[in-house]
Amino acid sequence: MSNTTPVRVRFAPSPTGKLHIGGARTAIYNWAFARAHGGTFILRIDDTDPTRSTDENTQIILRAMRWLGLDWDEGPEVGGDYGPYWQTERLDIYRDAAQRLVDEGKAYYCFCTPQKLEEDRKAAQQRHDSFQGYQRTCRHLDPAQARKRVEAGEPYTIRIKVPEERGDVVIHDAVHGDVTFNAKELDDFILFRSDGTPTYNFATVVDDADMRITHIIRGDDHLSNTPRQVMVYEALGAPIPTFAHISMILGADGKKLSKRHGATSVEEYRDGGYDSDAFVNYLALLGWALDGQTTIIPRKVLAEQFSLDHVSKNPATFDQAKLDWINGEYLAAKTDADFAREVLIPQLIAAGLEKEDELAHPQAWYELLASILKPRTKLAPEVVEKSRFLYEGTNLSYDEKSVAKNLAKEGTLTYLQAAYNALAAIDAHEWTAATLDEALAPLPEQLEANKRKFYAAVRVAECGNQVSPPMGESLQLLGRDLALTRLEQSYKLAQA
Ligand code: GLU
Repeated sequence: MSNTTPVRVRFAPSPTGKLHIGGARTAIYNWAFARAHGGTFILRIDDTDPTRSTDENTQIILRAMRWLGLDWDEGPEVGGDYGPYWQTERLDIYRDAAQRLVDEGKAYYCFCTPQKLEEDRKAAQQRHDSFQGYQRTCRHLDPAQARKRVEAGEPYTIRIKVPEERGDVVIHDAVHGDVTFNAKELDDFILFRSDGTPTYNFATVVDDADMRITHIIRGDDHLSNTPRQVMVYEALGAPIPTFAHISMILGADGKKLSKRHGATSVEEYRDGGYDSDAFVNYLALLGWALDGQTTIIPRKVLAEQFSLDHVSKNPATFDQAKLDWINGEYLAAKTDADFAREVLIPQLIAAGLEKEDELAHPQAWYELLASILKPRTKLAPEVVEKSRFLYEGTNLSYDEKSVAKNLAKEGTLTYLQAAYNALAAIDAHEWTAATLDEALAPLPEQLEANKRKFYAAVRVAECGNQVSPPMGESLQLLGRDLALTRLEQSYKLAQA
């Protein structure tokens, strides 16, 4: 492939399930590679397995791709010049391609029954033959004879004719370097099954060649398929793309990442409140590095700087704590307005504290709340418990431990009453965090009270919990009436 050929890459999920972390990472690498090279990113739905592919799964995958922000230039919903982009709509194309190979003597009809194949395999085993694959029985049939048998309705498959003298097949993999396979072990494998469906190794190559794919970036579980696919490219007379097989993703126990390790689908992370940019950032780092130390890599940088020579061939380990940390960094970097709109309000609505069509407060209120929650939030759903005290009106639920430790203590009644008097002196229109903090500040000294104990008592009285956001802002958000009522209500829990 020459350097001037425009880059075309594809992500080709089989809609047999949801989009998983491994698939999402493959999609991200393809997308980023296309963007970094001014190329085209194609989404193709490999739905040739009719028993396991569903439309519902396709929709889930498309939704996940959209959530990840991986826009595709050709594929479902957007179209393109090389469609259709669903393999089930391309069956004629595969049939024609297979027929052409038969006509050119590069593939042949095989009439061996499953029983015959099994017998041959057993015989090869007994002979201790190093090759136990297909014995090439039908390779030497007279083509005209074979054609007649096909026309007469005899069941057949179409097999590739791997050239006798092909020798080693060397894959120049962009991640693994040169990987050598012996063509002799490749077998005259099946391109077309007797039920009229193409095999994966055939359909994929027909499509990749047809769609002018220049780089194939995919999981290294497909490395062993690659020499077969190279045979198909050679038979079709199509240029061989650059392959880049990316490593497996392991769980913390060193085993291949699976359900056992927890959430594995993109959906679960979306529903768990992860930020899409943070999630993409983290997945990109599973096997790729910008410079070996930078962890926060915004999507824009990824799309400019991604390159295959920084992809590692070693397995990557999924690290939940690192993902959570990165997520927290992304949340903290949002403006208050964005945090309110993208994180806070949707979470409050989902938790039933707010109604979607009629928010309880003006925009500024949510932005103020956002400003105090942002630095304290790693995962979006955490904002719900931290905001709950603002929604409980005069029925505040108190955390028992916090009450026992901070309110039910000698002297606390005096603290609350002093706080009440200081706050009651502030008018509603002056009721801001700064004024409120200022009003409370001199009280511990005046009361000869321990500062921490004083604030803990007021905090539990106002918020029900000793671990709540900063005082002034919390009071401002509660509003004058409710803040004063809660102090009075908590007198009964305090001690003189
Ligand atoms: N549909 C195949 C898969 O999901 C695509 C593999 C490939 O990229 O060639 O594994």
